[in-house]
Amino acid sequence: MIKVEDFKKALESKEVNLICPVCKANIFSAITDITSNVPIDWNGDIQIGKGQMTPKIQMVCNKCGYVMEFDPRYLELL
Ligand SMILES: [Zn+2]
Repeated sequence: MIKVEDFKKALESKEVNLICPVCKANIFSAITDITSNVPIDWNGDIQIGKGQMTPKIQMVCNKCGYVMEFDPRYLELL
């Protein structure tokens, strides 16, 4: 698991200024377990071990609950 401090430092190093696009609040909680959508094929069947996966870290707006997702590979965290 990525540490919250390391994730926040990585965002700062990219000069990210987080503002919720929905409610304009600026207080977020980081969910630093890495998640991913599961790829499916054209029949809707889940593709385990196949397809392209995007690793994601989530930031949740503490006012309205909007969830943002960041690919940690671009933050040099993976
Ligand atoms: Zn919000």
